[in-house]
Amino acid sequence: EAKGRGEGGYERYRPEMEARGAERSRQAAALRTAIIEDQLVVHFQPVVTLPEGRITGAEALVRWQHPVDGLLGPGAFIDTAEQTGLIVPLGVRVLRAATREAATWPGELTVSVNVSARQLREAGFPAVVEAALRESGLPARRLTVEITESVAVGGGATTENLQGLRDLGVRLSLDDFGTGASTLSLLATCPVHQIKLDRSFVPDGGSDAIARAVAQMARAFGLQTVAEGVETAEQAALMTRLGYERAQGFHFARPMSAADLRARLGATAVRS
Ligand code: C2E
Ligand code: MG
Ligand code: MG
Ligand code: MG
Repeated sequence: EAKGRGEGGYERYRPEMEARGAERSRQAAALRTAIIEDQLVVHFQPVVTLPEGRITGAEALVRWQHPVDGLLGPGAFIDTAEQTGLIVPLGVRVLRAATREAATWPGELTVSVNVSARQLREAGFPAVVEAALRESGLPARRLTVEITESVAVGGGATTENLQGLRDLGVRLSLDDFGTGASTLSLLATCPVHQIKLDRSFVPDGGSDAIARAVAQMARAFGLQTVAEGVETAEQAALMTRLGYERAQGFHFARPMSAADLRARLGATAVRS
């Protein structure tokens, strides 16, 4: 964010920055406790086929059941987790919880797990994933690891890790597609199986040029396409026309607890 930054791109000192720093270290300590005391919970948002709306899997989304503030979304704490490195143990928890849960789902339903660039730099990350698969009994093909364009920065073991994940048979998805700076160069160096068009490009009355171009490009590369943040029937119909194969969004289902998703999957099985 460029706002409030000095000419050299660094933030000019302001007294409130110290307060902010103190608040951040307080939150870091609380988050550390949360990880140890298992206050993190994983919710799941269905991913559906277009146009039918049939559930093919779900994305795991972390929440913090805060003892005082209630259920917090990742927007409230992921930045702190990234900056302190707590994203590494947090990410392992989410991965274990998500694979364990997905192993109880019927058929070939898949689970998508968000993995930060920071986690991907850690040597041995594929072994952590392999252990989670083994412990849960979930076949590798039913796990999708979502990465963002920030992994293009690379460093550490990023390149080996991406290859290691592919070798395990895990699927890779490029999340928030189109919002990063290096989308196309990343596609050239890091083959993924799927791209998720960022919800800011899902047309809402305006131009559909980007959504259309991304669908064409994905076809050319042979990548599966997911439209994120589909909130209306009109958007679902439009994304179908543009050739999107999967969708996720409030129009179909909001993120929900593991128990609620299980109930929903059970109801679907009875109907079909
Ligand atoms: P994301 O991976 O792009 O996840 C999709 C976000 O869009 C979720 O927000 C979801 O609730 C929201 N969303 C889904 N459908 C709609 C819709 O129709 N309209 C609108 N307005 N929003 C929709 P959430 O759960 O707040 O997560 C935000 C971000 O936090 C995620 O974006 C992801 O980048 C990050 N995140 C979540 N869980 C984890 C995790 O376990 N590890 C890491 N590293 N990051 C995570
Ligand atoms: Mg995601
Ligand atoms: Mg996304
Ligand atoms: Mg997004």
